[in-house]
Amino acid sequence: MSDIITYQNYIDSAFSGSDELIEVLNPANAELLARIPSAGAEQVERAIAAARKAQKGWAARPAIERAGYLRKIASKVRDNAERLAKIITREQGKVPGLALVEVNFTADYLDYMAEWARRLEGEVLTSDRANEHIFLLRKPLGVVAGILPWNFPFFLIARKMAPALLTGNTIVIKPSEETPINCFEFAKLVAETDLPKGVFNVVGGTGAKAGQALTSSAGVDLISFTGSVGTGSRIMAAAAPHITKLNLELGGKAPAIVLADADLELAVNAIKASRVINTGQVCNCAERVYVERKVAEQFIDKIASAMATTRYGDPSVEADLDMGPLINQAGLDKVAQMVKTAIGNGAQLVTGGAVADKGKGFHYQPTVLAGCKADMEIMRKEIFGPVLPIQIVDSLDEAIALANDSEYGLTSSIYTRNLSSALKASRELDFGETYINRENFEAMQGFHAGTRKSGIGGADGKHGLYEYTRTQVVYVQEQS
Ligand code: NDP
Repeated sequence: MSDIITYQNYIDSAFSGSDELIEVLNPANAELLARIPSAGAEQVERAIAAARKAQKGWAARPAIERAGYLRKIASKVRDNAERLAKIITREQGKVPGLALVEVNFTADYLDYMAEWARRLEGEVLTSDRANEHIFLLRKPLGVVAGILPWNFPFFLIARKMAPALLTGNTIVIKPSEETPINCFEFAKLVAETDLPKGVFNVVGGTGAKAGQALTSSAGVDLISFTGSVGTGSRIMAAAAPHITKLNLELGGKAPAIVLADADLELAVNAIKASRVINTGQVCNCAERVYVERKVAEQFIDKIASAMATTRYGDPSVEADLDMGPLINQAGLDKVAQMVKTAIGNGAQLVTGGAVADKGKGFHYQPTVLAGCKADMEIMRKEIFGPVLPIQIVDSLDEAIALANDSEYGLTSSIYTRNLSSALKASRELDFGETYINRENFEAMQGFHAGTRKSGIGGADGKHGLYEYTRTQVVYVQEQS
């Protein structure tokens, strides 16, 4: 018991505790891993005040200096990559290989955003008036609140703090109560650098208390949130009184379209990998398949065999796995209930379909459901588990119409050898991202954004960076 760490909030470059604590458990075996503070409004406001105090001085530094700090932190992350990956595996249930990919990608992301220091641009416009100059200046917003989900907890720290800091903002991060340890370990690495006081802050706690305090504060200029649609909607309400700017990365229900002329091996391998990676708990992984009738039987056989060979279990003791557990009991219950309801409504169970008997963890069998219909819950709601529902279609037009008929609009994919079909799909699929002949993941230089209830604004690349800025126009009239 004695080696259980109690973490502290990181505010104004100092660690401080909280009377109330939250226990963090390993989802693979229910082992107690650590305790974290449950911050309330007073601690959250202190963090916001520290970020506010630091912001002007931070923004006044040349961008290349700010970038230097990101690079220092990236280097510390790399030096600690193996240790951090083990932490992610234990608190989130991610398999070791993927956890290490997440850590290294995070370091690369910090370096990538640092590269923008010499590329931030304003504009000079032509004027309608004689002897006038019009400048568009790009400025930081001020204090950013970054609220993180649990599924890629470490990467999401960088996805929010790197563009925020590079553009001259300061930040207060609240990690998910399910996976906060990696974030407090990140804060310890930041504390080892000479990053100015108050630029980067972390508060632990629940969404209902710390999250609500952050999002309803008048001291926050941008709420950058990644999580579920329900929470996104509550955050919009909390932000409304102060008209706080929002950047919302919400859920997805990614359709994968498999046409009769597709390379079926490629489609099967890509969709299977996408469905089991991180145990299906990825906002842009294939959540529903529309397969053309001519190849449907063949596709269903192949993907069922592929899913059935998935190696899964407790990744904190077994290294060579394809997937770990679901995040918690609620996640497991939701997946089990959705499969049961789908079968009750006429879906055919091809493989899996049950909670796996793997000790105390939240394990669910890799599952394929055929014969699904457009109005079934399993084709409409985010599953967030290793379950693949499949519907047969008769044409590309039908597949596109079904894919678009969703409250989500994050990502989509299509498998075809026909260039015209691919181009038509990319034109007509109404999603923030479309993958052709592959599945997730997105590139850091791209733009990750959803339509409909999948969010507002986006992340990554130049366009994601500029979400952390505002534009000021300056008119300069020459005097004679
Ligand atoms: P949640 O919405 O449950 O939680 C996300 C974060 O919001 C957590 O830190 C949570 O705190 C906090 N929170 C909860 N309630 C409030 C509130 N009222 N005010 C402020 N903050 C609050 O999402 P999950 O963590 O379950 O993540 C899974 C979801 O995230 C899925 O829907 C997934 O699709 C989506 N997602 C989207 C991505 C994208 O890029 N579009 C990427 C990754 C995930 P706590 O947990 O501590 O209580």
